[in-house]
Amino acid sequence: MLKKNFFFPILIVISFSTFSQNRNWDSLGKEAAKTEYYTPVPPVVTPGGLPQDAPSDAIILFNGKDLNAWHGEDSTKPAGWKIADGVITVDKKTGGIITKQRFMDFQMHLEWRIPTEITGSSQARGNSGVFLAYLGMANGFLEDGYEVQILDCYNNKTYVNGQTGSIYKQAVPLANACKKPGEWQYYDIIWKAPRFNADGSLKTPGYVTVLHNGVLLQNNTEVKGRTKWIGQPDYVAHGASPIKLQAHGDPSPPVSFRNIWVRPL
Ligand code: MG
Repeated sequence: MLKKNFFFPILIVISFSTFSQNRNWDSLGKEAAKTEYYTPVPPVVTPGGLPQDAPSDAIILFNGKDLNAWHGEDSTKPAGWKIADGVITVDKKTGGIITKQRFMDFQMHLEWRIPTEITGSSQARGNSGVFLAYLGMANGFLEDGYEVQILDCYNNKTYVNGQTGSIYKQAVPLANACKKPGEWQYYDIIWKAPRFNADGSLKTPGYVTVLHNGVLLQNNTEVKGRTKWIGQPDYVAHGASPIKLQAHGDPSPPVSFRNIWVRPL
């Protein structure tokens, strides 16, 4: 399946791209740029630390052996990503992977690696992401949950509200704790899901804390609504939801994952 946002990074990076000659994509890119900003730039922090084994009460989402906890973005299809040497790697052709289990509030740990041979720049360099609640494919552009961005921001400039550990286009991270491509990195995420009234209106927003390689990037940040590439975030009522890992359509070599677990709270 061709990803809905396949052309976006190309537009950003290659201004003379043939795609930019397409009036429709050109105008969409200009619309999207209205919610992209470049200052202030979060400070660069060199992280320490090593990954963390799952605690005794964790739900293991990936243990290096199988993807039994996941299905494809189409729930009737299996998760299409390949496992090799205890690691899963994004398969951009088969799309994202979605947990079979639904969650409300949780603590999550996952480890990810930008490939050594990474190419591209800005948003087209190791782009993936964790969607804290997968709400289904809404209107074509990302409106399927709340994305904690995964990107190679080790010496890679992009809009700061779209860099590694941003709540995409909503919240700039407090720091840039990216390791070099080829090194394993990790997120520890604490998510308090939004609550809704019986009439579907928002009762309390979602809140998220993100540590990247042990460095605090999001400190109980209020989430403003569904992640949107174009326009402002908004909420639609939902309950317990799956978690999604993103297969972004940019042409750079794919991101890998290992040691993924969740503790419902
Ligand atoms: Mg992403």
